[in-house]
Amino acid sequence: MPPTATLASAASITALADGIIAGDTLSAIQARELLEVEPGSAAAAALFAGAQRIRDHFLGTRVKCCSILNVKAGNCSENCSYCAQASGTASTDYQKHKWLPDEDIAVASTSAAANGATALGLVAAWWGVKEGSQLDMVCEAIGKFSQNGKVRADVNLGILDSQRVADRIKEAGAAVYGHNLETAASFFGEICTTHSYEERLKTIQYIKQAGMGLCSGGIVGMGESREQRIEFAEQIRFIEPDMVPINFLNPIAGTKLGDRPTMAADEALTTLAVFRYMLPDRNIMAAGGKEVTLGERLHEVFAAGVNAVMVGNYLTTMGTAPDYWQQAASRHGLVLNQQVEEIEDGAGSGCGTGGCGCE
Ligand code: SF4
Repeated sequence: MPPTATLASAASITALADGIIAGDTLSAIQARELLEVEPGSAAAAALFAGAQRIRDHFLGTRVKCCSILNVKAGNCSENCSYCAQASGTASTDYQKHKWLPDEDIAVASTSAAANGATALGLVAAWWGVKEGSQLDMVCEAIGKFSQNGKVRADVNLGILDSQRVADRIKEAGAAVYGHNLETAASFFGEICTTHSYEERLKTIQYIKQAGMGLCSGGIVGMGESREQRIEFAEQIRFIEPDMVPINFLNPIAGTKLGDRPTMAADEALTTLAVFRYMLPDRNIMAAGGKEVTLGERLHEVFAAGVNAVMVGNYLTTMGTAPDYWQQAASRHGLVLNQQVEEIEDGAGSGCGTGGCGCE
């Protein structure tokens, strides 16, 4: 049995937020307690108010937006249990294709920019990019993509098996490499057996060593315990990504997790808020699955302290129109990067990509 968490009071949560703003670090035990707050209670109100104060203190009030493009879709060799593109899934409700031509990537860049995104991540469904003709082709495409200047060129190309490959991708022009840890180390074996957590950590080491920005988060609601959710957040804190995309499981028919219920909206929002307390100065992005999980409460991701959203569609499912995010940001006293750029003529840094095949 996991240890029973004690319920934190509104006053103690407010004091915790004050401490984090002053430089304290939230412990795993404190984080576990925060996950227990009763929805609608004074403690929950204090949790969300604190999450917003922490975000505003460390990151300001600009919302970063990014998009992803499924640059090579389907027939993946890996068996990630949440993913429509995984080997052995019966899911066929998306278009499979080989690596897209440069023209299609250019069109997607224009469309991402029009949607308010400042970065576009090219996501490929495979184990990882292989040295040789495949890496040559990919680097040539990244070079053209990065030079078109519409959005920042990010990639999400799976496992890297050497520093050489990471360096080539960086030299080709990739600014940020997206590579999710997905979940806690202790739960990873439940969702994927074709590659290891260690391979993911090694990939992250290569990304950082190459000097690329790191976008790394994961998916919650896959059946992990609350303790494992905190373990995952601690691991993310350890690797220090520039951007942390948090996806919520969108159970897709035909996948191994297709029968799981979506996470309750209150639990999802509380989880985001607790991640804000644990990662006070990191960019945290509400990514895939937020629509099906939060429904009409989607805009509340900003009340939970996130400062980034994925705009446009996901890999195999639909997203939310950019207009919605402009209104939602404004409702919560925030401003989208795109609006900032219109005001300040080009300011704003964009964000990293979501996880490979996360939806
Ligand atoms: S998440 Fe990525 S690596 Fe895993 S099955 Fe899907 S496309 Fe393949």
